Amino acid sequence: MNISLEETLLDAIRTIPDYPKPGIKFRDITTLLGNARAFRRAVDELVHPYAGTKIDKIAGIEARGFILGGAIAHQLSAGFIPIRKKGKLPHETVRVAYSLEYGIDEMEMHRDAVAPGEKVMLVDDLIATGGTAEGATKLLRQMGADIVAACFVIDLPELGGRSKLETLDVPVRTLISYD
Ligand code: AMP
Repeated sequence: MNISLEETLLDAIRTIPDYPKPGIKFRDITTLLGNARAFRRAVDELVHPYAGTKIDKIAGIEARGFILGGAIAHQLSAGFIPIRKKGKLPHETVRVAYSLEYGIDEMEMHRDAVAPGEKVMLVDDLIATGGTAEGATKLLRQMGADIVAACFVIDLPELGGRSKLETLDVPVRTLISYD
């Protein structure tokens, strides 16, 4: 039987109610990562439209964006840029403050991680308000990157992240959404 992409991913992702705060439904992709078939399918589907497109680097957002982004970088023969919470990167960084669905934080990237004009794909597990991806977009563009696309397994459309990124002229690809 042919199981749809949506069914495969929805079955593989676990929802934890009231984590990390009351009222938040945390979409836990560790169960997807632990499921070889679902993990492979998610990565294949995210990269599929970009086969043959020149992408120099994948920028992954800490921490789940590292896991997906590393696999995507391998598939597309691209380099990888870690975008991290402040204070974790050892060399000279650029930093930006950003807002989350549940708080405020700062993120950093190495100043020399991207060269002007390089084509970069941004990757994370989920887009909610889009605050995190917007912050990463600012960091990458500050260093002259050309953001080709932003890819996420999960979209929470009610929180408006996709529209926020599209307003910034970042094309968005997501695989499943939750109301
Ligand atoms: P946002 O900046 O609001 O788009 O939030 C996206 C970031 O926060 C991503 O790095 C997600 O991993 C994490 N995140 C936000 N909301 C959730 C949620 N409901 N379940 C799992 N992760 C979430």
